Amino acid sequence: MRKLAILGSTGSIGTQALDVAARHSDRFEVTAIVAHSSAEKLFEQVRAFRPKIAALTIEPAAIPEDIKNTCQWMFGENVLLDVVRACDADDVLVSVVGVAGLAAVMESLKHGKRVLLANKEPLVAGGELVTQAAKAAGHPLLPVDSEHSAIFQCLQGAGPNRPERLILTASGGPFRTWDKKEIYGATKEQALRHPNWSMGRKITIDSASMMNKALEVIEARWLFDMPAEKIDVLIHPQSVIHSMVEFEDGAVMAQLGTPDMRLPILYAMSWPERLVTGGARLDFAAMKALTFEQPDLDRFPGLGLAYAALQVGGTMSAILNGANEIAVDAFLHDRIRFGQIAQLVEETMQAVPVVYGATLEQVFESDLAARAKAQELLKTSRFAI
Ligand code: NDP
Ligand code: MG
Repeated sequence: MRKLAILGSTGSIGTQALDVAARHSDRFEVTAIVAHSSAEKLFEQVRAFRPKIAALTIEPAAIPEDIKNTCQWMFGENVLLDVVRACDADDVLVSVVGVAGLAAVMESLKHGKRVLLANKEPLVAGGELVTQAAKAAGHPLLPVDSEHSAIFQCLQGAGPNRPERLILTASGGPFRTWDKKEIYGATKEQALRHPNWSMGRKITIDSASMMNKALEVIEARWLFDMPAEKIDVLIHPQSVIHSMVEFEDGAVMAQLGTPDMRLPILYAMSWPERLVTGGARLDFAAMKALTFEQPDLDRFPGLGLAYAALQVGGTMSAILNGANEIAVDAFLHDRIRFGQIAQLVEETMQAVPVVYGATLEQVFESDLAARAKAQELLKTSRFAI
């Protein structure tokens, strides 16, 4: 029986994690759940899973009588860290959004817990520190992001053989076939309509701009200790091949499956074992074709920024990420056009000084500096709608 804490239990990943935990209640005990403000949803989860701790960053007006005394309730801005410190979990699934998860990842590792990582922004911003802390904790970071889970799965059984190349697949998002001008003026509704996956709003916008793949290149760099030039991105619109690994002899290993996050979530929870997810199986005979395309960096400039950030090194990836969080928020609040997301990120990267050999505090400082600069740029006439 493994004890699991879920940071971000009410979100897309969090609810699917609870779904597979319920299916295997003989294997997983959900010991703590945390959300931001979705109190009603969290109350339902408390009724269904009876965790020892339930927490929200925003304190609700009241806790329903029937669950008031069934668990310890925690509230406040620092609730992620408070729960990590207070809970008895073996495993912490970090599925909050944005760099907000970084401190919780570090704290979990410090307390010797295994981290199941859906939240990619902590690795983007603080990859070096996170991977060092995982090494010190003596646990592998268990990737939940489908591409990284695919690579992790492909590497099982590789023994001492190091991969020569990682091939991250990308669906191409809703604007794969659109021209540059159309993409520039895309609306929120269009950007939020992902062809293959149903996810939270931030990652859905990131997928449309391909900034999600940019973040994933940086994530892969740290998770698998691979230099950027050995990480390729390949457009694969059907989302059947979730990513691939190429070895020295030219052999390519791929992980395939229907687009269902429950598989990578449960694999991280049960690794190295495989358990039933309840998801649909692939039907190869019904599949017409698997197709591939080169990504277009001109229409999707965000992707190129990942490679640029890795080349610069230091806290440049944290700056990219902080600026992107501000840009996505600005787009979702109708403050900038879709095509300006990458522009804002790039201008912020040019303006904010990079710190090398950064401590965790310095990573947060770079993140804050990027956010402040992006906000400042947003006020200039170039970013007026
Ligand atoms: P959602 O927006 O659906 O869910 C986010 C969850 O985190 C919610 O439970 C939310 O609570 C909670 N939350 C957000 N901020 C905080 C905070 N500061 N403190 C405490 N709780 C917080 O996001 P997703 O599930 O889509 O994504 C989560 C992470 O996983 C992201 O980093 C994303 O990039 C990554 N990921 C997601 C995939 C997917 O399929 N969805 C695939 C691969 C990676 P509330 O409901 O109260 O707001
Ligand atoms: Mg992914």
